[in-house]
Amino acid sequence: MKDHFGRHIEYLRLSVTDRCNLRCRYCMPDEGVAAVGHGDVLSYEELLRIAAIAVRLGVCKIRITGGEPLVRRGIVDFVRELASLPGRPEITLTTNGLLLAPMAADLKAAGLSRVNVSLDSLRPERFAEITRRPGLEKVLAALEAAEKAGLVPLKINMVPIGGVNADEIVDFARLTLERPWEVRFIEFMPVSGGLGYPPESRFPAAEIENELARLGPLEPLSRKGPAGPARLYRYPGGRGRIGVIPAVSHHFCSECNRLRVTADGRLRPCLFSEEELDIKSLLRAGADDASLSALLLEAVGVKPERHQIGETDFVPGQRRMQTIGG
Ligand code: SAM
Ligand code: SF4
Repeated sequence: MKDHFGRHIEYLRLSVTDRCNLRCRYCMPDEGVAAVGHGDVLSYEELLRIAAIAVRLGVCKIRITGGEPLVRRGIVDFVRELASLPGRPEITLTTNGLLLAPMAADLKAAGLSRVNVSLDSLRPERFAEITRRPGLEKVLAALEAAEKAGLVPLKINMVPIGGVNADEIVDFARLTLERPWEVRFIEFMPVSGGLGYPPESRFPAAEIENELARLGPLEPLSRKGPAGPARLYRYPGGRGRIGVIPAVSHHFCSECNRLRVTADGRLRPCLFSEEELDIKSLLRAGADDASLSALLLEAVGVKPERHQIGETDFVPGQRRMQTIGG
């Protein structure tokens, strides 16, 4: 699938639930989500059907996300079915890690290739403050379990927020000296109104890089494999790598190769644009594969050239990240 700007779309992100066992202040309100009923969320059969068609159209990598994907029952079997689709796409998953340790080996055996674990503080009280729930120990155990299970290279996603946890950037970076992990620092994105932190608490990539330099000189790494938005570095002698994702301050739109499916069954051509196409209604009206393929191609066709976030006339959207999947 190729869009109007010459970008090859080969990466599908599936949000399998909008529910979560944490309440990160930059993502979810304390009261949780206005419980989308079970019937409103795409069934695994429906998600598989979309995935199979997308793979036929050239998608080679599928990321499972949410909400928290590991809270949805049957997720291991779903991974197994996705991984055995003709075309054998690579299956990855983004999780907060709370439930991962006991599931890591089963997920690997089912065909999951690797995981990204989101973690914003290495201090228990602060972890609980940001996520409004305890659980740091479980996440740390999950990192070990994921590595042991072979869900590698293990990536850790950290969102630095000024005045909240940005002072831990060096502590996170230090992990890459000893462990073969990729620690990725992602700019806080004011994607929707009413988040727990104001847009001014965004900690820009340039400041992240200044913090990182306090631990030592950073060696830039060239990227291999499919394009991703991270700038990659390592510390000389370090076992792991550092990624910096300037989601807001620099456009990586020109390299965007993704299409998203929201938990409630919408195709979302761009994370930052409100435009969505209703694939659930089509599925439930008994559409054939040709019509579903046509809708996927239409979504690719309306991918905007670039996002407007960070610009003065950008209007934050309605959806928070847990309904889109990040
Ligand atoms: N629950 C899983 C997790 O936390 O990894 C998967 C879904 S979560 C929505 C996916 C990613 O989005 C997480 O890494 C989280 O840190 C990130 N995220 C959520 N809201 C964000 C925001 N406003 N700015 C930047 N990243 C955000
Ligand atoms: Fe849940 Fe992930 Fe959102 Fe945190 S970032 S509230 S873990 S969906």
